[in-house]
Order: sequence, then structure tokens, then C-alpha cells
Amino acid sequence: MIIVEHLTKRYGDFTAVSDLSFQIEEGHVYGFLGPNGAGKSTTMNIMTGCLSATMGHVRINGYDIFEEPDQAKRLIGYLPEQPPLYMNETPLEYLKFVGEAKGLRGRKLAAQIASVVEQTKLGEVGNRLISKLSKGYRQRVGIAQALLGNPGVIILDEPTVGLDPLQIIEIRDLIRQLGREHTVILSSHILSEVQAICEKVLIIAKGRMVAFDKPENLEKLLVPSNTVSFVAEAEKKEIDEILGEIEAAVDWQLKKAGEGSVHVDVKIEFGEPTDVCRSIFTAFAERKKALLELTSKKANLEDVFIELTETAFAGEAPAVNVEEGEKTPEDEMEENGIKESEIHERKIQESPAKKCQ
Ligand code: ADP
Ligand code: MG
Repeated sequence: MIIVEHLTKRYGDFTAVSDLSFQIEEGHVYGFLGPNGAGKSTTMNIMTGCLSATMGHVRINGYDIFEEPDQAKRLIGYLPEQPPLYMNETPLEYLKFVGEAKGLRGRKLAAQIASVVEQTKLGEVGNRLISKLSKGYRQRVGIAQALLGNPGVIILDEPTVGLDPLQIIEIRDLIRQLGREHTVILSSHILSEVQAICEKVLIIAKGRMVAFDKPENLEKLLVPSNTVSFVAEAEKKEIDEILGEIEAAVDWQLKKAGEGSVHVDVKIEFGEPTDVCRSIFTAFAERKKALLELTSKKANLEDVFIELTETAFAGEAPAVNVEEGEKTPEDEMEENGIKESEIHERKIQESPAKKCQ
């Protein structure tokens, strides 16, 4: 189980992640969903021990990622947003290197490599240079390195970005398979993606959590997008009276539909749109007023996402002043790099993500 408590990350006076708390249970596929810049990668980098937090805790099966990084990191496989691949190596050479960096040796290493190559279907390209592989295959290599050591948790940052539609389908299938044996957390800014793969979705906007629920419950959560529309032969006053008595109807707009008839869009905040339809139907029938049309529209996850992320924390200033003497992100990244094993340092280049295996 992963416990994230009051996680906050500041870059100078900008707060990228603000007071994020959630728990990840074993054996499910979770999605971090949020627009670009929401704080997904920052959160994942902290959860995997690649970046320090300004405040808060992350515990992986009881191990604190900051205080017991070795034990905690062993339980996680991570595919960063920029996969740390070495173009002039083959997948097999690269996997051997990563496996060794994770402490695997000899037969155990060979068996692990064989297993992840099979899982990610890399067999055919094992000896080709990574630079010659398609983006889809490179992503498989990135996932394969995350799987080495058979960690219980696999964290994948935007695993399908830049892939073509066929590759996306293949990688999604692979992620679903991984979800049978691992806890998987993936990030995405694409709704349909998390909807297609994830059992639970954490929506994050401007560094804060706006929702954490099953995809089907999220649709119920964002009620403002639920609407009921009708066309009735009635006066504005009567319509206002009828809707005023329906608690779930929070707002409505009228426009002329035809001679003597009005089209009304009603915003529903609580309850099911179909219940509101029933109330409207009964109210008009009791007053002997003709209802010419009556339809309801439920919010889908797309609506939830757009509405939640656009309106979340509107008008609030996310910035928090930094105390004097607080470390800059660059300082922290450098500290992280120093902690890495010697063999790994040999290849660490400019990208911070490369320090994150
Ligand atoms: P996401 O992965 O959801 O697109 P990120 O976690 O990468 O978002 O970024 C969250 C916010 O933090 C963004 O506004 C981004 O510009 C900012 N940010 C990320 N890394 C740094 C950094 N090293 N220095 C300053 N700001 C950063
Ligand atoms: Mg990102």
C-alpha cells in the first residue's frame, strides 16, 4: 500500500503540488488525470524517490521514501516521462545494465530479463539498437526496465504519449496485463485513456486533488454538467414556479421555441436527471400544461474533467512564499544524483529523469 500525506512541492515561490493526500491499495490500476502542468510528473517523481518534497510523506508498504529510500525504491518500478534509454545500446544490454543497478546478478538477472522481455514482447528486437526501434518498442523497453526486480508497484508517467493509435492499443493491453500482478499507477492528460484502463482515478489540477474515485462515480460527482431540457407551452412565471419547487434544479435558462412554447435548459446539481424529468412531467401534468419535449443529459467523464480542472481553485493564488534558505529544485536533484550507485552515475546525463531508475 502507498500512503501519500500532505505532499507539497514548491519551486521557488510557485507551488507545483499542494497538500496532496491519498492512498493506493494493492492490485489495482490507478490513473492520475490532469491537464499539462497539473503536477502529475512532480508527484510521481516524489513518490519514486527521484525528487524531494517540500513537505509531506510518502510511504511504500510502510517504508518512508525519504528516510528509507533503498527499501522503498525496491518496491517500485518507474517509467519517467522521458524514459532514460541509451540509444547506442540494445534492449538486452540496457536491461542488463538496469538489472545490475537494481542489484540483480547472475542467473537471477538472466531469469528476470527473460521474464520482462517476454512480458513486454521484446524478444524480436532484443539485439537491435534502441535508436533503431519505433517509439512503441522504446516504450516497451522503458516498461521492461521498470518491471525488472519484479516490484509490486509500477508507476508509468504518460506511457502512451507520442505513440500511434495501434501502439497505444498495444501499450494499454500491456498495462492491463500488468495490472493483474502489480499495482499500476499511470498518468495521463487524456480522459479516454484513464477511462479505458483505470479502476480508480485521481484528478489533479493546479497541484491539488479535485477528485479521487472510480470513473463511474466521477460522473455522479460532477453534477453541474447534468442537464434536463424541455419544451413546454407555459408562461415564464409558471415555469419558474414549477422549477422553483424542484430542489435539484439549481439554474435554468429559457428561450422561445415556437408560438406559445418555450425551450428550457435546467442545470441539475443533486440527484439523478431522470428523477428531475419525472418531477417536471408531473408538475406540468398537474397544471394541465403541455410538455412537448423532455430530455436529460448526464455528465460523462469528459465533462467532469474539463469542468473540474477548469474551475478548480479559480481565483485562488497557488503561490506560497518560500522561506529563506530553502533548497532550489536544482540543489535537490543534485543531491539525488549523488545518492545513486556508482555504476549508474557512469551513465547519468543531463536529464533528471535519468537519475530515477
Ligand atoms: P504535469 O506532469 O502534470 O504536466 P509537472 O509535474 O511536470 O506537471 O509540473 C507541474 C508544474 O510545476 C508546472 O507548472 C511546471 O511548469 C512546474 N515545474 C515542474 N518542474 C519544475 C522545475 N524544475 N522548476 C520550476 N517549475 C517546475
Ligand atoms: Mg508530466
